[in-house]
Amino acid sequence: MKRPTDSRSTDLCGKCVGLCCRYFALAIDKPETRRDFEDIRWYLLHEDSTVFVEDGQWYLQINRKCRALLPDNRCAIYEKRPPICRSYNTEKCDWHGDEYEYEHVFVDPDDVARYATEYLSKKRKRQAARKRRTAATAKKGRQLRVRRTGSARRPRIAIPLLKSA
Ligand code: SF4
Ligand code: SF4
Repeated sequence: MKRPTDSRSTDLCGKCVGLCCRYFALAIDKPETRRDFEDIRWYLLHEDSTVFVEDGQWYLQINRKCRALLPDNRCAIYEKRPPICRSYNTEKCDWHGDEYEYEHVFVDPDDVARYATEYLSKKRKRQAARKRRTAATAKKGRQLRVRRTGSARRPRIAIPLLKSA
């Protein structure tokens, strides 16, 4: 981001319109239940919001510019800008316009609802398959124990009756 005095800066930020100051993104928990997805649908019902997934991490992005961004795209509080702004650099910034490799981007609330239906259905199937596998493994374990200890029932031992003298 440009210093307020660098109106004719020739560095990268000098050519940019403050792209990195026009949104913020917060990491959010990965949705796992219908209720979680409904919360995300609610986020997206609000204007200027986006939800995206990058490297498995879910983010809520609010596409609103910073209050300190001046009309000429410089920072009004450059000397007092927050640490997150200080740590951002031009090396891999929004200026480069590279395609972000997001796994998913949701803008329309209906898109996340559709995704949720598909995801939760697959999850239920996975859970059912895991349950079947666990039950089959437990059954096999029981059979092996029975084999190792012989028959579950004790064999009858014939005890001859002693005739009384
Ligand atoms: S997006 Fe990059 S070039 Fe543009 S203001 Fe931010 S850091 Fe500078
Ligand atoms: S504080 Fe300054 S550098 Fe940080 S986002 Fe706002 S305008 Fe950009």
